[in-house]
Amino acid sequence: MNLAHLLQRQARMAPERPAIFHGTHCVATHAQWAQRCQHLALHFQAAGLLPGDRVALFMRNHVRYLELVFAAWWAGLAVVPINAKLHVREAQWILDNAQARWAFVTADITHDTGENLSGLERVIDVDSAEADTLWQLPERAVDTPISERNANDLAWLFYTSGTTGRPKGVMITHRNLMTMGLGYFCDVDAVSPKDTIAYAAPMSHGAGIYAIPHLMAGARHMVPPSGGFDPAELFALGQQVGPLSMFAAPTIVKRLVDHAESAGLSERTCSQSFKTVVYGGAPMYAADMQRALRVMGPRFVQIYGQGESPMVGTALSRHHLQDTEHPRHLDRLASIGVAQTPVNIRVTDEQGRDLPLGEVGEVLLQGDSVMAGYWRNPEATAKAIQNGWLFTGDMGCLDADGFLTLKDRSKDMIISGGSNIYPREIEEVLLHAPGVSEVAVVGTPDAEWGELVVAFVVPQAEHTIDTAALDALCLQEIARFKRPKRYVVVDSLPKNNYGKVLKTELRQSLV
Ligand code: AMP
Repeated sequence: MNLAHLLQRQARMAPERPAIFHGTHCVATHAQWAQRCQHLALHFQAAGLLPGDRVALFMRNHVRYLELVFAAWWAGLAVVPINAKLHVREAQWILDNAQARWAFVTADITHDTGENLSGLERVIDVDSAEADTLWQLPERAVDTPISERNANDLAWLFYTSGTTGRPKGVMITHRNLMTMGLGYFCDVDAVSPKDTIAYAAPMSHGAGIYAIPHLMAGARHMVPPSGGFDPAELFALGQQVGPLSMFAAPTIVKRLVDHAESAGLSERTCSQSFKTVVYGGAPMYAADMQRALRVMGPRFVQIYGQGESPMVGTALSRHHLQDTEHPRHLDRLASIGVAQTPVNIRVTDEQGRDLPLGEVGEVLLQGDSVMAGYWRNPEATAKAIQNGWLFTGDMGCLDADGFLTLKDRSKDMIISGGSNIYPREIEEVLLHAPGVSEVAVVGTPDAEWGELVVAFVVPQAEHTIDTAALDALCLQEIARFKRPKRYVVVDSLPKNNYGKVLKTELRQSLV
């Protein structure tokens, strides 16, 4: 099994169908997409890259993203997608850990800091003349056979930060992504060749792998010219090319709805711009979804998943979101829906025993979408997957109809604007600042971002804390979006008998 066969199938079946768009401009038909992949795959092979080797993409959303992903798969390589918002040093750590041989980058990433990536055989700026030669098709079509892979071979090495501070490489296989793709049609949406998926959220995450079901169905793929989320642009593009489907974090959904409301757009206009907005990745408040439905109409589907089972956990369908007559409609709106078709779900206590309905425990997932394990980290893998079940670290409860409601995270992760932020990473940076004795970082609810990062700082004796200096240190060491938005200087941190900081108390002190 190799996901590249999905592209080959479309290139044979519908070669002339426009497939990849930069805004309204078509940059590749299926046949051209497949030709470029074969051409790039030849280059990879000629340079000695072998099946299983890793190629990293440290790129903002770009029309060449999908060509690179499928070219790597065509040659049997695994893709390491790196969040474009990461600091160069954070990306370097990932590249070293993954032992990536090549990296494709967008220039803006390294320009921001002036730092360069090291330890790679080749770093190629996808907008450079060097890249143009790789993308230039030869006069005569090339015919590179697809490198045959086992279903359990690595396709996508996705780094997720953990409570230990260092990110872990989640090994996602061809089978995992095939399962996710097929599951989309059962649980999320039907897709036709006339549909267009727009990549407004980072392609290095779930939004990017949604290319798979859309390729399966022969739909169109569009990278907006802004390369990201601009509500006015997306509304306009939808009107021009036909209603868009896309993945969006709750923060983005809110901005889309704000735009529709402030521009006075009717539900009909919204339906001409958007077919389906899949939201997830962070909690969506029921009131926000009610408003979204009121303003934009039935365009929404919620999914819950995590890097370890990408985009596949639960789904709250369009039908359930609209079923206002149901006696438990409000509860359902606040839930994350029911188990998606490819997975089973359990809620258990700390000993791994099933809990009665309504009781809160850890959410466990099992199915073909669940990762093969963490890259070169058997201890972490053994902790996360036990007896074939993935321990998600999310706390929730099930109702009699199978709807799962999340209550909390057993991990300390903060989700701000749809991006995951692990307090430990920030604490480690701040602890290096002069005059800082102790630090605890927590999230606090925020209407716009979902959560904001707040740092509690204990100064060393006879020191005063200069928060501007702390901010400067964060800018130097970690991604901008992870920086605390607020500092609270305290004399001491609340701790339990074991000396563990009571973060719940800190969170409560903020509300
Ligand atoms: P990631 O590994 O980056 O995909 O983050 C996964 C985590 O995001 C999950 O473990 C949840 O804590 C959270 N999450 C994902 N989807 C949802 C959702 N629909 N509602 C609430 N939290 C979510």
